[in-house]
Amino acid sequence: MPELAEVELARRQWAAFHGEPITRVTTHLKARIYRDCPAPALRVLEGLTLLRSRAHGKRMLFTFGPELHLEVHLGMSGKLSVGPQDHKEQKHDHLILHTSEAALIFNDYRMFGRVMLHDCANPWADFPPQPQDSKFSVSRMRKLIEKHPKKPLKALLLDQNACPGVGNWMADEICWRLGLHPGVPCLGLNPALVRKEIRFVSLGAIKHVADKNTTASVDGFAPGTYVAQVPPKNWLFQHRWKKGGHCPKCGDALERDTIATRTTAWCPTCQQA
Ligand SMILES: [Zn+2]
Repeated sequence: MPELAEVELARRQWAAFHGEPITRVTTHLKARIYRDCPAPALRVLEGLTLLRSRAHGKRMLFTFGPELHLEVHLGMSGKLSVGPQDHKEQKHDHLILHTSEAALIFNDYRMFGRVMLHDCANPWADFPPQPQDSKFSVSRMRKLIEKHPKKPLKALLLDQNACPGVGNWMADEICWRLGLHPGVPCLGLNPALVRKEIRFVSLGAIKHVADKNTTASVDGFAPGTYVAQVPPKNWLFQHRWKKGGHCPKCGDALERDTIATRTTAWCPTCQQA
């Protein structure tokens, strides 16, 4: 499942075409990505210009007018890419926005992704602040901790209303940096420290994954497959996937278990229970 940095990287593929009119829209009528929005409705975008885009957590919003937006969720296997104007359609290219020069492609072989149209000014007006936003403040963090005293730390981090865009690997990274076992309850956590590490990992992930992958448009986005640049070796990220992975801080063997319904890795030496 893509997390905020991978979603930001995907958004930037299409964002390179801000200012370009959409000449034609191609859809696969029966694809499950259209479960919230019938595929023919996407034709409303023909003749309109892709004005701007933004990401929030695991979603992307492409704006075509003051009250017209296309929202895209990548789901598990969705990817955004850019092909040439005469792009040869692939089996799982369920949505293609054609411009005079390029094909903006949403490919999703498992179809957990989805698209929807919004005909209002700001469909995301009520969304909570993201970790990388200045509104993600210490007082907000304190309120979240007070509201969920018994919730395991990892579950709070994965709560998309609390920390939008933080997913499994980022949550493990944050717990590891805090020196806390992912299962510790939120009660008594230091809100300033928790916020600091959430922001460090979020901003660092964007820097390492989205900012440095300048050639990504060639291959498009596919979680875990093509991202050439990943966080460095002194992050848990580089060690948590490996069987027999070791803590990059102390060198002890990492432990793994299911916490907050997700496979979790932690260092039994560095992270207090
Ligand atoms: Zn360690």
